[in-house]
Amino acid sequence: MSDAEKRDTVIIGAGPGGYVAAIRAAELGQTVTVIEKGNVGGVCLNVGCVPSKALINAGHRFKEAQDASTFGITTQAPSIDFSKTQDWKQKKVVDRMTSGVKMLLKKHKVEVVEGEAVLDSNTKLRVVSTGPKQFMSADDGLTIEFKNLIIATGSRPVEIPGFKFEGRVIDSTGGLNLPEIPKEFVVIGGGYVGTELAGAYANLGSHVTIVEGTDSILPNFDKDMVKVVLSQMKKKGIDVITGAMAKKAEQDDKSVTVTYAVDGKEATIKADYCMVTVGRKANTDDLGLEMTDVKVGDHGLIEVDQQGRTSVPNIFAIGDIVAGPALAHKAFFEAKTAAGAIAGNKTANDWVGVPAVCFADPELATVGLTQSEAKDKGIEVSTAKFPFAGNARAVSLDQPDGFVRLVTTKDDDHNLLGAQVVGPGASDLIAELSLAVNSGMNAEDIALTIHPHPTLSEPIQEAADVAIGFPTHI
Ligand code: FAD
Repeated sequence: MSDAEKRDTVIIGAGPGGYVAAIRAAELGQTVTVIEKGNVGGVCLNVGCVPSKALINAGHRFKEAQDASTFGITTQAPSIDFSKTQDWKQKKVVDRMTSGVKMLLKKHKVEVVEGEAVLDSNTKLRVVSTGPKQFMSADDGLTIEFKNLIIATGSRPVEIPGFKFEGRVIDSTGGLNLPEIPKEFVVIGGGYVGTELAGAYANLGSHVTIVEGTDSILPNFDKDMVKVVLSQMKKKGIDVITGAMAKKAEQDDKSVTVTYAVDGKEATIKADYCMVTVGRKANTDDLGLEMTDVKVGDHGLIEVDQQGRTSVPNIFAIGDIVAGPALAHKAFFEAKTAAGAIAGNKTANDWVGVPAVCFADPELATVGLTQSEAKDKGIEVSTAKFPFAGNARAVSLDQPDGFVRLVTTKDDDHNLLGAQVVGPGASDLIAELSLAVNSGMNAEDIALTIHPHPTLSEPIQEAADVAIGFPTHI
């Protein structure tokens, strides 16, 4: 083994956490090395956020072409060449975005080492295996001594007993890369990943069944929001079976049979593919953390302070391997905080205004507190709601389902504590509400902000009007 090479700031993993930390650290004047064992861009760009949104978009386009008669447009029944859809997703979306990240790393003079990092101590790691030597050669003997380390190794899908990922039993990555549109598609787990892909394949023509263990899909969103999505699912013919314990999957080369039980009574579904999306596991088990003094807590999550600093002062952890929602924009934020902390800046993570989005039909988004979260914290709140059915833009888009809700303090100040949107454009609309929550605005601030007409943003202002007691279009 060669002598240890000395490095300044080293980052393990080039997903949203790792690559953003690298860019920010370089901007702050640090010399930066990133070690990545897979693909630059991590889960998000390669097999997560980005390709899933591309497939969802393809599904919407296909469905819209089928439903064009609503607007008096006559078309021939659309057909789809799914291999071309997959090709477009990979080459025009994923490859384009990942090569953009590679360019940014190059621009910031970040050294990228391809290989798997394993920690040897609080200051040393080895790169134990290498990928194609596209950047710098990481010989099997490469040992690095670092001043500071940011761990950003992300997460992987959880496998459950009876559902080994092979053949027609797939994880979300398999679900994104199917060679064909399944006629029958079973999704085990109705969290946001399962629900999004269920919707995409339903729009592409699959008959989809979601098998969910709890009493509702999307348990992280308010029940009245989920109801809007369930009603759309019903229209699309998606079957949702709740309170269902997934037991096993048996497959041959043509199909897979899924057995599940509701109230102890077993039933089966035969499908082309069964996708299991029941959660993700932090990639902290094979990292050599036992050779360090880094404390690992429940579920393999690394314990960190507000700056992302672990129990070892020169080691930071960010993204899916620390507590909080496993979302790319959370990893982005933590990345900047950790890089800033290494530079000696007084950065801190603050999760009051972290939004969460599910790209279902229609989209759902939430930021800050929900009414029930406020109640659990003993905070008295008021809620103000405005439906998209009262919004000209939503109606002209033929997407009138859903609402905007503001959660404010019960006093006359109506300080904004949280907000939820279910409906068209929710994923974009939540950004305004995040800004408002983060800036400590109240309902009057929003009500006095002129929103353009006719746009999907108006229900936010209308809900604020409701909150202060002067509703206009309701
Ligand atoms: P990752 O993106 O997992 O990156 C970690 C990187 O570290 C990987 O590239 C891995 O190869 C590398 N690595 C691991 N161990 C080592 C090692 N020992 N040595 C070297 N390299 C290593 N989030 C959203 O915000 N919005 C969405 O719409 C969204 N959609 C999603 C859809 C799907 C289908 C999935 C699966 C996830 C989605 N997410 C979404 C979640 C999002 O992808 C993750 O929260 C995000 O990728 C986490 O970033 P990260 O940097 O922590 O880890």
